[in-house]
Amino acid sequence: MRKRILLLVLLPLMAVSANAQSLLVGDANCDNQVDISDVVFTVNRILADESYKGSCDVNYDGSVDISDVVILVNIILNGDIAYLGCPDDAHPHLIDLGLPSGTKWACCNVGATVPEERGSYYAWGESEGKRVYDWSTYIHCDGVRDTCHDLGANISGTQYDAAHNLWGTPWQMPSDVQADELITHCTAEWTEIDGTNGCKYTGPSGGSIFLPAGGGCYSPFLFDRNNGGYYWLGLQNPEDINRASYLYFSSGDAYCGNGVNRFYGFNIRPVAQGF
Ligand SMILES: [Zn+2]
Repeated sequence: MRKRILLLVLLPLMAVSANAQSLLVGDANCDNQVDISDVVFTVNRILADESYKGSCDVNYDGSVDISDVVILVNIILNGDIAYLGCPDDAHPHLIDLGLPSGTKWACCNVGATVPEERGSYYAWGESEGKRVYDWSTYIHCDGVRDTCHDLGANISGTQYDAAHNLWGTPWQMPSDVQADELITHCTAEWTEIDGTNGCKYTGPSGGSIFLPAGGGCYSPFLFDRNNGGYYWLGLQNPEDINRASYLYFSSGDAYCGNGVNRFYGFNIRPVAQGF
């Protein structure tokens, strides 16, 4: 590894503005792709000016050093393309908020065509939207309260995960830990985009996502739209399997709860595990 990097620094310095910033994580030289030229650029910046950060600080630790080069090489080898914000209309994108776990959040909800859309509403463990959300229509129970089937402690990444079913790898429903990390490590700004209220979460990387306050579905009714966001998480409540965990936020509050009936129709914002 060391020998390889030493050879790289002998390559010519890339002639790109050192002040530019790219939405593409790892695009150190801001040419809209992540490749070996970014490794060369970063190594040269380390040698030339240790105070330089720009787009080279891939792990957002405030300095540009060999750890950034290691991450860059991994991004290139694994094809882990992530952004600080939506670069185009080809959603969903992986957004790198710079979270400690390395978790990337999707730029939009399942069923949405743009980030400011609420998307579809799902009962917990279902992968299709419907008109009426109650015990009688919930497919993972026997038609009435207190008859829920045990889907396992955590349905993220399983056959019961709508994010995984509809979007495929690497997407899945967030865990409580991932949702908690989002609300504790990001700054939240209650805002409105095209008539939809929601919360913009900005992470340590400077990257951000917008979560619409889509409310929830109970029976044929939509409640709390534009006032509260209700997003399913992957955990089944261990004390009462009829309930599951969710992320809630409003203009003045945000928390992860685990005690809501699984038949409710909530939105889903997928994540990709840290890599
Ligand atoms: Zn996007």
